[in-house]
Amino acid sequence: MDKNALQRVLQKIPKVDYLLEKIEAVPDFSSIPISVIKASTRKSLEIIRNSILKGWEDGQKNGVDLELFAHQFRDEIGEDKIIQNILSDARKTIAQRLVPTINATGVVIHTNLGRSILCQDALDRITQIAGGFSNLEFNIKMGKRGERYSAIEEILCELTGAESAMAVNNNAGAVFLSLNTLAKDREVVVSRGELVEIGGSFRIPDVMEKSGCKLKEVGTTNRTHLKDYQSAIGDNTALLLKVHTSNYKIEGFTKSVTLSELALLAKQHQLPVMEDLGSGSLIDLSKYGLAAEPTVSDVVAAGADVVTFSGDKLLGGPQAGLIVGRADVIKQIKSNPLTRALRIDKLTLAALEATLNLYRDEAKAIKEIPTLRMLTMPFDETVKRAEKLLSGIKSVIEKEESNIVKAVVGFADLSSRTGGGSYPEYSIPSRCITIEPKLISASLLEKRMRNYEPSIIGRIENDRFIIDTRTLQSGEDEIICKALAEILGT
Ligand SMILES: *Cc1c(COP(=O)(O)O)cnc(C)c1O
Repeated sequence: MDKNALQRVLQKIPKVDYLLEKIEAVPDFSSIPISVIKASTRKSLEIIRNSILKGWEDGQKNGVDLELFAHQFRDEIGEDKIIQNILSDARKTIAQRLVPTINATGVVIHTNLGRSILCQDALDRITQIAGGFSNLEFNIKMGKRGERYSAIEEILCELTGAESAMAVNNNAGAVFLSLNTLAKDREVVVSRGELVEIGGSFRIPDVMEKSGCKLKEVGTTNRTHLKDYQSAIGDNTALLLKVHTSNYKIEGFTKSVTLSELALLAKQHQLPVMEDLGSGSLIDLSKYGLAAEPTVSDVVAAGADVVTFSGDKLLGGPQAGLIVGRADVIKQIKSNPLTRALRIDKLTLAALEATLNLYRDEAKAIKEIPTLRMLTMPFDETVKRAEKLLSGIKSVIEKEESNIVKAVVGFADLSSRTGGGSYPEYSIPSRCITIEPKLISASLLEKRMRNYEPSIIGRIENDRFIIDTRTLQSGEDEIICKALAEILGT
């Protein structure tokens, strides 16, 4: 086969300018920026060109004749097909990468799905504050520069009993900043049972090292006594630290020192004591059937000089790291130059203030903060929700006249979970929907649900696709039914 044949085929590829002119007349392209269309056009043509060159090379080796070769690419060089390819590529380019998903996993604080979702008040406040100027760092009364934290400091003190409070970007930042402020180049005493890894490579020993502190480990994995701390305190000790082991539990032959005991010891040595509470609930959730965990007020009352916790775990607000504690300690942290690098932004601050406000009325907080609402949802409520969703699903998949059974659907009493780094993986009884597809495998169903728009994330247990209604939001039942109707039949 001669080289001219190759040239003749290549020449048949439409030119960029010619295609762009054609594209201008296609309405589907009107909302796509020209820069994107151009890039997609070049990309599509490049792919065709390369496949032709490859085809020619292979043809040379295998002695394919010219006619066949040209024929092979006729489709690819066809104008309409190229334009369709460009359109689909351009759409993919401009599609949003951060998209809403439906959480049917039953994991309430799902780290991969964005942790806490905000209450309506917080959403409204973000819109209001982000869309205009605000007194973020302006004291209106005095007519001079104000403090960023004034929006949330008072209420945090009110809700936790602390003297002073501030907030940074996230709890990892809060821990880092506090350690750096209170113990740089000096020793921090921590129990070996509390040297945790939270996930996302947040490990207490690493954070400690990066914040410039020297880790002084005491005790053993399962047992640490007060005397272990006592004998570790020396001239270079700056801080006693307790870390809430929020994602695992040590059971059996165990001993740990309570914060009150530690606070007493710290006082005797005139040292501060800090607790990284991780999740940090502002209300006692054991009243609602969850495991008893210390609240932030408990830890403050027990004598912690500094407490750090997340804004978007049990608190149910935006991503933030809250630091509450003794006035002089918080003042010291506020004036650390690193605070600027970790500072909380105004959108977060607006959402945080709105969320915290709801805590002034516990019943309201439980009702309106989605994380709390989902966590405290009684089992009976999950039964009602599951029954409603199941009848919706049945009506869509049994609608057709044909006798083909697309899936066997039913109930199972399983467990929801609090989720990522809040409680030590605590399960909550929940009635779930089980779907056993008959025409496809459960894993294909899971994959298709996940790739649906919007993405629906469930889980598989015993070859059945599980939908936990605890974490579903309003209006999502309908989407799930529609998705199942489309997916199960094909
Ligand atoms: C989650 C957690 C952190 C990290 O908090 P982020 O808000 O994710 O930065 C730190 N310490 C503990 C104990 C945690 O549970």
